[in-house]
Amino acid sequence: MSVKELLQSTDCGIEVEVKGWVRTKRGNKQVNFIALNDGSTINNIQVVVDMEKTPEEVMKKVTTGAAVHVKGVLVESTGSGQAREIQASEVIVMGEADPDKYPIQPKKHSLEFLREVAHLRFRTNIFGAVFRIRHAMAYAIHKYFNDHGFYYLHTPLITASDCEGAGEMFRVTTLDPKNPPLLEDGSVDFRQDFFGKSTNLTVSGQLEGELGAMSLGRIYTFGPTFRAENSNTTRHLSEFWMIEPEVAFYDINDNMDLAEDFLKYLIRYALDNCMDDLQFLSKRLQEEEKDKKAEDRSMELIEKLQFVLTHDFERVTYTEAIDILMNSKPNKNGKFQYPVTGWGVDLQSEHERYLVEKHFKKPVILTGYPKEIKAFYMKQNPDGKTVAAMDVLFPQIGEIIGGSQREENYDKLVTRMQEVGIPVSSMWWYLDTRRFGSAEHSGFGLGFERLLLFVTGMGNIRDVIPFPRAPKNAEF
Ligand code: ATP
Ligand code: MG
Ligand code: MG
Ligand code: MG
Repeated sequence: MSVKELLQSTDCGIEVEVKGWVRTKRGNKQVNFIALNDGSTINNIQVVVDMEKTPEEVMKKVTTGAAVHVKGVLVESTGSGQAREIQASEVIVMGEADPDKYPIQPKKHSLEFLREVAHLRFRTNIFGAVFRIRHAMAYAIHKYFNDHGFYYLHTPLITASDCEGAGEMFRVTTLDPKNPPLLEDGSVDFRQDFFGKSTNLTVSGQLEGELGAMSLGRIYTFGPTFRAENSNTTRHLSEFWMIEPEVAFYDINDNMDLAEDFLKYLIRYALDNCMDDLQFLSKRLQEEEKDKKAEDRSMELIEKLQFVLTHDFERVTYTEAIDILMNSKPNKNGKFQYPVTGWGVDLQSEHERYLVEKHFKKPVILTGYPKEIKAFYMKQNPDGKTVAAMDVLFPQIGEIIGGSQREENYDKLVTRMQEVGIPVSSMWWYLDTRRFGSAEHSGFGLGFERLLLFVTGMGNIRDVIPFPRAPKNAEF
């Protein structure tokens, strides 16, 4: 049985066996208490060891981090804070963890230190909680879409298209570094780098997702995404996971409704299914905040999740937002780090967070962005200046979702591609959705790790993905 099942068991007096890793051991000559965890829950099961019946050389090896196999009887606990504990009849040490060398100790480690031992940080309570929540959220995402008639579409990771036109791509190359094809001027011809074609790792599955939606009706993608942005922020990774629903016959309002319903569903799912882990994180992060005055968390984690559930997201146009930002005094010296100079500028996360945390005091959906700062495929509004884009902005995060209604008109789309310099001929396959049976459709991208930052309350995106990939961060 797992530790979780043992702790929830209503049986008493039954013989049980459990395997796990030692969190702590304490006691005296007569009796020892082992706190054992197997990853199934934040809570440890207490193993009570009668030292007169257990060889001393075995118990010497029972140190923090050691893998042990315990046989015994499940009994009602008198003092461990849990309902059940195990009265051990046998303790077998499967794998020792030399206390002088094992880096994870019972004391609370800083997140910075744990990032240095990223390969072992799963063994700590905090990362156990984060990665169990990550799993639960992934499951809830599939469940939501499945229950709402969406199909899971697998879009390619190696692709010839640069979805956003932002040039933040990792090249995929098969070129022989010793003998690459050369251009006339002697430089390497990277256009041939994938067996004669030019390819990249995907920055978004959206364009392919549109093909799926315009035939299956409702699809979503959920996979890794790569961006070669050399950004060392707490909100960006080089490799992150993105969820991208795309729906035929949806306009921008349907799209906003979907985004709000989806996010609320996921948060409710976490509250209903991950409460032990959330409570642990809430307490741990409050301690961390006290220690370091790190992130400004004006609200406790669970309160913050409930707050989002119980408020309608404020729907605001970009133009209104610029007005608000230009007339606001965000801090003591009355300025943003990046001043908002006027209509047309792209918003930074400090602006987004100001709108959410200080002005509206609830999540915000911003629409009607200037077309110059958004991607070519977004539907152009009748004013000729803005597009039917929507960004969902969350407290603590800023942008959590970016989406839009897509331009369904072939001529307008081609004109826009020419304006921004996207080669129309290479996008024939995409344009065919507008040539044959075109219709309005919409979708969005939710950054999985940004969602997890919000749900877990963690402050750094590198702490919500098991193996972070960021500049200078790819050791294993
Ligand atoms: P930002 O403005 O924060 O850089 P973006 O506008 O470039 O984000 P989009 O292209 O709109 O991002 O991607 C959709 C979503 O993917 C974003 O709303 C965000 O949640 C997430 N996202 C984008 N870039 C990253 C990244 N480098 N690391 C993690 N998540 C990301
Ligand atoms: Mg970006
Ligand atoms: Mg953005
Ligand atoms: Mg965006």
